[in-house]
Amino acid sequence: MNCDVNSVNLRIGYFCNNNCSYCMIDENKKKLLKQDKPIFLTFDKIKLQLNDLIKKKLKSITLTGGEPTIRDDFFEILYFLKQNNFVVELETNGRMFADTTFAKKTINIFPDLYFEISLLSTIPESHDMLTRVSNSWKQTTTGIKNLIKLGVTEFNIIVVITKQNYKDIKNIPQYLKSLGDVKWTIGYTFPMIQGNAKLHSVLIIPKYEQIQKYLFESIKNALNLGINFNLFNMPFCVIEDYIKYSVEFNNNLAHTDLLLYELEDSISTWNKERINSKIKCISCKSCKYFRLCEGVWNRYIKMYGVDELVPIKGKQINTLL
Ligand code: SF4
Repeated sequence: MNCDVNSVNLRIGYFCNNNCSYCMIDENKKKLLKQDKPIFLTFDKIKLQLNDLIKKKLKSITLTGGEPTIRDDFFEILYFLKQNNFVVELETNGRMFADTTFAKKTINIFPDLYFEISLLSTIPESHDMLTRVSNSWKQTTTGIKNLIKLGVTEFNIIVVITKQNYKDIKNIPQYLKSLGDVKWTIGYTFPMIQGNAKLHSVLIIPKYEQIQKYLFESIKNALNLGINFNLFNMPFCVIEDYIKYSVEFNNNLAHTDLLLYELEDSISTWNKERINSKIKCISCKSCKYFRLCEGVWNRYIKMYGVDELVPIKGKQINTLL
């Protein structure tokens, strides 16, 4: 399928001040270290990549790591992006914004920066257990509050659902509302089982059937509060009433794709990476959504088998519209 690239994920390094037990990037980082390759991009290399994107007329990027905000040259990078009119979403754990001076400087340089911040629970201990850094919940939520005070009006909040936090996710919409009356979008995300998530899979990866009830409750709460949401990495038979909120479904329907710049040695596309890591089972062939659904992670099937994938009855369809 031909897809238009509409955005770019620019990974600028693997350093992070959290050490999340579900983090998927650790595998790549270890591979680079083994090959004696650098695990971060210098500012000069970042500029080269950004100039390449300018030539390709790609101006919408997600700045990701690791944690981009802990770099010494974070503000220089931001300044360069602003000077060159990039539309930027910053993928961050938000902790650095607990420092008011840091938050102010960021907003001064890039007032219309989009923020994608991971918040795993309304319970500090659960969040900190997953990030494996004490006080990280406090810093992340203080960071969000500071950004709201500085005029940020829109946040994407990423909630990675694990065995440690799934029962609390129903409380997240209400908690976000209590932080401020801004435009919230919640990205409910099932972990990609690689890196740390693979290493700790038995401890952290829940079964879909385990989380389903709590996820639906959280979705209903979000809808009642006027909060947007989307769903990542979930097979359609698990989220049947909410398929239209699936990110993969919408990307496939719109034929859009994301370029992944993984430091300097690889440029790939997210659709290909994702689909290569997923699988459907034989009975999926009788499912109404067989042509649209991507199935589940290969490693999930290895852990839990295929019993939960119950084909949805009906004539096979190509679109929901
Ligand atoms: S194709 Fe398979 S995984 Fe996808 S919704 Fe149907 S039964 Fe579930």
